[in-house]
Amino acid sequence: MEATLRILVIDDDEVDRMTVRRSLVKAGFRLQVVEVENCTKAIIMLQESPFDCVFLDYRLPDQDGLLLVQQVRQIGIRVPLVVLTGQGDEEIAVDLMKAGATDYLVKSRISSDSLARVLRNAMRVYQAEMEAALANQRLRESNELLIHKNQELEIQRQQIQIQNIKLVEASRLKSQFLATMSHELRTPLNAIIGFSQLLLRPGKRTLLPQQKDMIQRILNNGQQLLELLNEILDFSKVEAGRLDLHPDTIVLPDVVNATVDEMRSLADEKQLELAVQINLRRPRAFNDPNRLRQVLVNLLANAIKFTDSGSVSVSVSDPSDNVVQIVVQDTGIGIAPEDFDHIFEAFRQVDQSRSRKHSGTGLGLAITDSLVRMMQGSIQVDSTPGQGSTFIVRLPRAVPSPDEEAAASLLPLR
Ligand code: ADP
Repeated sequence: MEATLRILVIDDDEVDRMTVRRSLVKAGFRLQVVEVENCTKAIIMLQESPFDCVFLDYRLPDQDGLLLVQQVRQIGIRVPLVVLTGQGDEEIAVDLMKAGATDYLVKSRISSDSLARVLRNAMRVYQAEMEAALANQRLRESNELLIHKNQELEIQRQQIQIQNIKLVEASRLKSQFLATMSHELRTPLNAIIGFSQLLLRPGKRTLLPQQKDMIQRILNNGQQLLELLNEILDFSKVEAGRLDLHPDTIVLPDVVNATVDEMRSLADEKQLELAVQINLRRPRAFNDPNRLRQVLVNLLANAIKFTDSGSVSVSVSDPSDNVVQIVVQDTGIGIAPEDFDHIFEAFRQVDQSRSRKHSGTGLGLAITDSLVRMMQGSIQVDSTPGQGSTFIVRLPRAVPSPDEEAAASLLPLR
């Protein structure tokens, strides 16, 4: 069943009001019609309660229909407004529609059909307008929300940028401090090492065994300290991007054997077996030999440090013509898989406690990782806690060099 429509008819002519009412009833609408004869009463009525549609005469005693339409819209009353114009008033129709009328109908054409059509149209148009207005309103609101969010994001972005600048500056100061400090400490340390070596040199001086032992300890500790300082200095250079690659021809077995021999005394002290396996189709590569040595020293030092019994082995192979692979394996304490990523971060150690058993700065692997990257290679770890660790370094057979010919001679023939 159709809902009852509340209709307001504004006309000072009683007969005209009756015509509208009868025509609508005849058209079959269920209606509640309220009639007023002037604008003042109409405004009061419209403010009091809602209507589904308003029919208003263009010519009213207190003011014309155009003014009433403007007034109703100004107050913000939302209702379909149909203006009934007299013969000859049609030219005003454009102004009426601009002012906010929903439709108009010439009085002489009023019939139940025409009124029903205009009423249905007006309500449909009005409904569509309301929906559009609502959608617009929502759009405006979400737009405002977006603008607000955007402003917040912009503020956050600026804060992050400021924070970033501060962090970069702090990091620069830290690297600078590390570099200066380690550099400054190296000079007196070199004097300590040099003089203790001088004192230990066999000569006229006769030292008591106890004195000799003390000087040897000064020398050992001084050398250890120097290694730590060099590590810090290297790290600050890596961070500042001041480490350069100096590629040269490398005879892999020579570099690997020489480096392993350097570390042998450390392995011997712990009675660890230290083995080298070379399985290369071509022994030469083109990369930075000093950096390769440094990578090997770091990995071997760790392998020996974190292994109490068993063995440490280094194997070198070339799984493909373009790739050289170096594997350092130990039977030590191992590393839990959840620590694999962290150990390559600077100052990270699996055991961060003060009571930890193994000394170190936590910089070795961070430097190693940077060096391997600089050499255009990659490093990977595999380990089982309690069983041992394996570090795999893969390097290109040759890196580009200013001396392209030397590198090209090592590349596979096509
Ligand atoms: P450092 O050796 O000075 O502590 P590194 O950066 O060389 O620092 O290594 C970071 C951490 O990774 C070590 O503290 C240790 O916990 C772990 N680690 C590295 N190599 C090994 C290894 N071969 N066996 C077991 N743990 C290792």
